[in-house]
Amino acid sequence: MSVLTTNAKEILRDRYLLKDNDGKIVETPHQLFKRVANFVASIEKDNKTYWANNFYQLLKNLDFLPNSPTLMNAGLPKGQLSACFVLPIHDSLNSIFTTLKNAALIHQSGGGTGFNFSNLRPKDDYIASSGGCSSGPIAFMKIYDAATENVKQGGKRRGANMGILNIDHPDIESFIISKSNEKELQNFNISVGVSDRFMDAVRDNNNWKLINPKTKKVEKELKATKLWQLIVKEAWKTGDPGIVFLDTINKHNPTPYLGKIVSTNPCGELPLLAYESCNLGSVNLSNMITEKKIDWNKLNDIITTAIRFLDNIIDVNYYLLPEIKSITKKNRKIGLGVMGWAEMLIKLEIPYASLKAVDLAEKLMKFIQEKSYETSVQLAKEKGLSPLFINSAYFNKSPLRNATCNSIAPTGTISVIANTTYSIEPLFALAYKRTGILGGKTQIEVNSLFKEKMKKSGLWYKALKQHIFKNGSIKDFKNVSTDIKKIFKTSLEIPFKYHLLHQKAFQKYTDNAVSKTINLPKNTTIKDITEIYWTAWEYGLKGITVYRYGSRNEQILQKCNFD
Ligand code: ADP
Repeated sequence: MSVLTTNAKEILRDRYLLKDNDGKIVETPHQLFKRVANFVASIEKDNKTYWANNFYQLLKNLDFLPNSPTLMNAGLPKGQLSACFVLPIHDSLNSIFTTLKNAALIHQSGGGTGFNFSNLRPKDDYIASSGGCSSGPIAFMKIYDAATENVKQGGKRRGANMGILNIDHPDIESFIISKSNEKELQNFNISVGVSDRFMDAVRDNNNWKLINPKTKKVEKELKATKLWQLIVKEAWKTGDPGIVFLDTINKHNPTPYLGKIVSTNPCGELPLLAYESCNLGSVNLSNMITEKKIDWNKLNDIITTAIRFLDNIIDVNYYLLPEIKSITKKNRKIGLGVMGWAEMLIKLEIPYASLKAVDLAEKLMKFIQEKSYETSVQLAKEKGLSPLFINSAYFNKSPLRNATCNSIAPTGTISVIANTTYSIEPLFALAYKRTGILGGKTQIEVNSLFKEKMKKSGLWYKALKQHIFKNGSIKDFKNVSTDIKKIFKTSLEIPFKYHLLHQKAFQKYTDNAVSKTINLPKNTTIKDITEIYWTAWEYGLKGITVYRYGSRNEQILQKCNFD
């Protein structure tokens, strides 16, 4: 079994290992991996033991991990295993509160929910049944937020939401600034749902109409650039709102005949139809290097087994609602992604901020997509096609069993269990304080690859340690060579151009979306954010999120500063 770090063990103990009624832990990490592997293999007709063992190897070697709810709930009665859901909201109290109840149940089970609030009539609109005025989407989002705050997932962590409002909704201006006060909507990521038509209007400096979704009346007309500037200024100030590019998303919708996609899950990696759910898993790229080279055969084996694992989950999963069960089982969307991309690059000695890294990102994700589709085709032959997904026209190849196969998740917890870097993100810092994951406790961590490299080069001495504890980086440390400095550049030293290029490279071969935060230094300007959001659209990204260092008081990772 791969050695678990102290941090990993602590997280497993705190959240994942089974406990009895008195809160006493009743399994080891080894037993957790067995529990998950056996349960996911239980659906196999032949060779159950063979697959259980294969799945177990995958997990215990930390070569692949599924999303948190699978690790927590597999094998438990009514074990809900998916991380991502989208629920519909229509313009009635009945719909608003039914979806709120459903969201609470999903949160309780460990999943996250995304909603588009654009069907709701605007604030102060007339309500025929009561003769009163509507509270509007933002007021209802606050109710969702309060409910989320108070529904803990098995007493562990709070739920997470994505709230989207379309750019032509009359309340869009208040929506854009709805997280300006840090205390508001803390359990929401918010994104503006933007159309290509709007982007064209910004480019051409045209007027833009805000339309009442109920009456279809134009409520207001203003310059498109005014809204655009409000978005980027607010994102500069607080990190919210992000943008989801709805036309790009729908251009790639694998099941357009089932309707338009109007929302994503909380972190943006999954555009989903109403009631669709998806389970995710990530390959640990750091483990796919043998003797300073990518081990393509190993990667191929891991992908093949991981896709089967994720596909099996659809059949062993417990579904909280009949609607979720129905569409999820028909489309069979799964999302295999990656973690440890930055560590893979470090092991290959390729700087993240280089075109060589971007080229490799494309080559790697293309390989992952091809092997994922090949496996899905094989599974279709062995176990049958997905019933609703008419894909041959779409992919122009043999039919797949899964409407989607890939998705790049943030891997916020599973990358800590696997002791690697988040998702496709660069190193955040060489040393950092990590708070939040374990209920507010603060830990100081040094990246293990960096430490190893410094030890080998005889540089792991007091002055260097003090320097990285203080600065998080070796940019200004004299005794380290330029080549080493390039390889160990941290997130905030990487020009945003490269953050975007990496997102674009991975998106190119990802049928769902890529969750990525463009981490930026404090001195980033509003003009920079404008360029980032604009480029994201031009690159065909499905969504974009920025975070400027220090723009919120609470952030999960902080550079150490012992001053
Ligand atoms: P993990 O590492 O725990 O598997 P990720 O950070 O990769 O999870 O997030 C994947 C998805 O899981 C998110 O996009 C979201 O849908 C869901 N998710 C993450 N954190 C939470 C949370 N606190 N509550 C509910 N859902 C969450």
